[in-house]
Amino acid sequence: MTTGKITCPECGHKQKMETPTSSCQAFYRCEGCKKIIAAQKSCCVFCDYGDRKCPTAHGGNNQ
Ligand SMILES: [Zn+2]
Ligand SMILES: [Zn+2]
Repeated sequence: MTTGKITCPECGHKQKMETPTSSCQAFYRCEGCKKIIAAQKSCCVFCDYGDRKCPTAHGGNNQ
């Protein structure tokens, strides 16, 4: 199991989230502003706002 840090584009709140290994996560709920944040440019919120890409779309084993 992997965790990534996501920075909310609305309020800048950083939170740790588990990155799913078998599917992409297209949106999440920010703990800071309670808004639902959806991915805009990429496959998932980790690719758009996270400090690391999601493991699903990028092979998963390029550490
Ligand atoms: Zn927020
Ligand atoms: Zn992704």
